[in-house]
Amino acid sequence: MITIALSKGRIFEETTPLLAAAGITALEDPEASRKLILPTNRPDVRLIIVRATDVPTYVQYGAADLGIAGKDVLDEHGGDGLYQPLDLNIARCRMMVAVREDFDYFGSIRRGARLKVVTKYVKTAREHFAAKGMHVDLIKLYGSMELGPLVGLADAIVDLVSTGGTLRANNLKAVEEITDISSRLVVNQASLKLKRDQLQSIMDAFAKAVAANQ
Ligand code: ATP
Ligand code: MG
Repeated sequence: MITIALSKGRIFEETTPLLAAAGITALEDPEASRKLILPTNRPDVRLIIVRATDVPTYVQYGAADLGIAGKDVLDEHGGDGLYQPLDLNIARCRMMVAVREDFDYFGSIRRGARLKVVTKYVKTAREHFAAKGMHVDLIKLYGSMELGPLVGLADAIVDLVSTGGTLRANNLKAVEEITDISSRLVVNQASLKLKRDQLQSIMDAFAKAVAANQ
């Protein structure tokens, strides 16, 4: 049995065509079903539906053989025990620093001000500001980071931005890009040895479908 860990929503939707290219179709829609284990048309393949941030954990411990997770999530998790053979080029967005429209970010940096930053991506943010030689106070949030600068919790946020619509709607502006984000295939290293042929054929089909989409 091959177990693939996915999250609902965007990742599931954008993965469906890749699974199809590997001859895999979910027999139920995770948005409609309450099941956490979804059978597929292939008796040897099942999908498990987990939180996006939990995908690396399931794969790392071998509870899933394969998983699909954003680079944002993988960077925070760290790569332990995970083989990352393929950028799937889906769920693309950017990790950015953003501030209130009326806030002088670069001026504050020049003056050596110690900024307060809210983010769900504490490790990514810590490494980014350390590399710039900036001292910041990081405050961990679990969502709606955009609110932080609006109510005086922080000067800046580190968050994912795609269209910028949420920033604009909250009078924020992006001031710095940290990195480009897309989703990656992750593979358990022991599974790769034990189930080499089955996994390789899925990985090859994904790679072909990704290349055809470029
Ligand atoms: P939830 O929204 O349920 O709290 P989550 O934010 O972890 O959970 P998703 O919103 O489904 O989960 O995001 C999953 C992945 O999709 C993220 O880890 C990221 O890689 C990518 N992603 C997030 N936001 C965007 C976006 N606006 N555009 C493109 N990709 C995105
Ligand atoms: Mg989300």
